[in-house]
Amino acid sequence: ELRRVERALISVSDKTGLVDFARALAALGIELVSTGGTSKALTEAGLAVRDVSDLTGFPELMDGRLKTLHPKVHGGLLAIRENPEHEAAMLAHNIAPIDLLVVNLYPFEATIAKGAPFADCIENIDIGGPAMIRAASKNFNDVTVVIEPEDYAAILAELQGQNGATSLELRRKLAQKAFARTATYDATISNWFAKEIGETTPTYRAFGGRLIEALRYGENPHQAAAFYALPQGRAGVTTARQVQGKALSYNNVNDTDAAFELVAEFDPSKQAAVAIIKHANPCGVAEAASLKEAYLLALRCDPVSAFGGIIALNRKLDAAAAAEIVKIFTEVIIAPDADEEAIALVAAKKNLRLLLTGGLPDPRAETLTFRPVAGGFLVQGRDSAIVDEMEPRVVTKRAPTEAEWRDLKFAFRVAKHVKSNAIVYAKDGATVGIGAGQMSRVDSSRIAAMKAEEAARAAGLPESLAIGSAVASDAFFPFPDGLLAAAAAGATAVIQPGGSVRDNEVIAAADEAGLAMVLTGVRHFRH
Ligand code: 5GP
Repeated sequence: ELRRVERALISVSDKTGLVDFARALAALGIELVSTGGTSKALTEAGLAVRDVSDLTGFPELMDGRLKTLHPKVHGGLLAIRENPEHEAAMLAHNIAPIDLLVVNLYPFEATIAKGAPFADCIENIDIGGPAMIRAASKNFNDVTVVIEPEDYAAILAELQGQNGATSLELRRKLAQKAFARTATYDATISNWFAKEIGETTPTYRAFGGRLIEALRYGENPHQAAAFYALPQGRAGVTTARQVQGKALSYNNVNDTDAAFELVAEFDPSKQAAVAIIKHANPCGVAEAASLKEAYLLALRCDPVSAFGGIIALNRKLDAAAAAEIVKIFTEVIIAPDADEEAIALVAAKKNLRLLLTGGLPDPRAETLTFRPVAGGFLVQGRDSAIVDEMEPRVVTKRAPTEAEWRDLKFAFRVAKHVKSNAIVYAKDGATVGIGAGQMSRVDSSRIAAMKAEEAARAAGLPESLAIGSAVASDAFFPFPDGLLAAAAAGATAVIQPGGSVRDNEVIAAADEAGLAMVLTGVRHFRH
């Protein structure tokens, strides 16, 4: 695990801390090999340095474009120390092992930041540096790689405390960091290049994205946009095959993804499920024995908003469901598959986009989500919490009935996919009122109740669909008012995370209203 360092190759543009670091290495008896400018700086500081051209037997050429790109350098970095064949190759070709690589790259970022001419920027693309960093990182088992002065201290601490050796743990950490550096470096070059050649498609590739297609525009016509897949992405909108319909827009992709992620929460082997999405929020979700029934129930929740919506199915689209769906204007249908008859029915609507994915995304997958902020972005693990795996605790005098339990879990599952503040009323496996994206939970509660009344009216029913429903809240009720609004609307059972300082007040209010309430302990914020 410990690897002694006998030879270090130092080639740095940023010479911060260089002399002190190199002096400490020399004091440990480590041989120093360096490129032109670095070597000069070290020699001037009175240190003994060997030029890399002496090691390679080859001069530095072409204005520094060729300094370290030589088998003696790369062989010394890449050779596996305890591999007899590698050892034999080193002997035969007189390749000396390089155990520590200290490199930081040509300042490409700083060069473009100061608005340097094109040719200067190009000349500041480091070639040999990244090549050496990648070679050393690949060989982390034997080689220590350091790419920035702030890590000098940690390396010296190990070398000084471990008789001139580094630990595998440190080498691995440094290698991972080094690969991130070369990836970002190339991404920066590619983005700058795109701008220089007038490429308007955002080509942000820091995470190795593969361009699926350039989109006509973004959320609005004055915004450029493109659609990318990640190398280890999940099944879903990125892997979909478009069977027919107009080209996808940015908003289509965004909303279709939201729809499919939601419907994937419902196990197709148990029930058919349908989600209708508008502006990335569901306006109706239902599960039933057949897709057709589920679709009709989902549609009933908010038939006005469903117009021009996006429909996701958790099972193979069949003719019965397709015949219903084509009755109103829909932008996109996404499903794992579709049968011939269904495809023929959809074909009658030329513009309607039909996407088939071959499977459902795994709702438990631990992947990342990104959110831009000025000058950067936020990264988080996606919300992969599932209500079936939680242990909701009954906190009221009355416990939910079996039917209420089913609807509570259904509603909480949907609430996870509704923008906060989210309030979802559900009954008999279908949403009956959804309140999304309000800045106050009471407002979301009221809107959801209003939707349930409108849905009843549209269906010609005498009373609100929320009567006898279960209600889910994505986060705790800070005050009893939101809960009381739900009770007033007719809900009989409540599911929410709990955790408010006023939980006791909220529970007392629930008891007084005769509600059954369960706390999940898990929150589903979606801002
Ligand atoms: P120095 O100041 O020592 O002359 O050069 C150090 C810089 O050269 C470092 O930033 C290092 O990454 C870079 N470098 C090392 N080898 C090569 C090479 O073969 N080609 C290019 N283009 N840059 C290199």
